[in-house]
Amino acid sequence: MTDSISARWQALHLDRPPSARLLAVSKGHPAAAVRSVAELGQCDFGESRIQEALPKQKELIDLQLRWHFIGRLQSNKVRPVVKAFDVIHSVDSLSLAERVSRIAVEEGRQPEVLLQVKLRPDPSKGGVSAEELGAIWSDLLALPGLRISGLMTMAPLGMAAEQRKGLFADCRALADRLKLAECSMGMSMDWKEAAEAGSTWLRIGSALFGSRLVSTDSAN
Ligand SMILES: *Cc1c(COP(=O)(O)O)cnc(C)c1O
Repeated sequence: MTDSISARWQALHLDRPPSARLLAVSKGHPAAAVRSVAELGQCDFGESRIQEALPKQKELIDLQLRWHFIGRLQSNKVRPVVKAFDVIHSVDSLSLAERVSRIAVEEGRQPEVLLQVKLRPDPSKGGVSAEELGAIWSDLLALPGLRISGLMTMAPLGMAAEQRKGLFADCRALADRLKLAECSMGMSMDWKEAAEAGSTWLRIGSALFGSRLVSTDSAN
């Protein structure tokens, strides 16, 4: 099993443009699987649920890993997430950003934050529209304790490849307009289009670790 993970990790690294870094999404996989990927040189790991992430992080405390929170962020989970994660990809409203900011200041943390945007209608996902983002942008920039570095987006399920390309290109263009370096877009099924469109974080779970044993909430 570890051999095939290693082969998939190498292949992903060869196939991606260097600007599109690999975020290894380890939700649904045990700490041992994270450790085997970390041994290949992978530092950045993504988790969706705080309850699942904390025991894994504890078990892997001897490794210098960077943990990214990619799941839907409930307001009552902001404090543990701010304490345990370096990067948060899923801040999807001004009120949530305000809460992350307040708690980050209280905890003496400076999380890197990506704003989750929704650039096409999709009832199953959170995210602010381009218009909303424009309206709250100056308020977001004024928040202390956050390092806002980019945008995160997901394509609606079942969207055709051509349309996904357009969506990812729009997200990249919006990030560029706001002078944000990072674009977190692309998952196991659509990372090639996202990488071509200028993604800087490919969030890849099953194409690296294999299918998830435990079912975890992947709908954001
Ligand atoms: C689970 C998840 C991923 C990874 O999904 P795969 O299809 O397994 O690559 C990426 N992004 C988010 C937000 C997720 O919840």
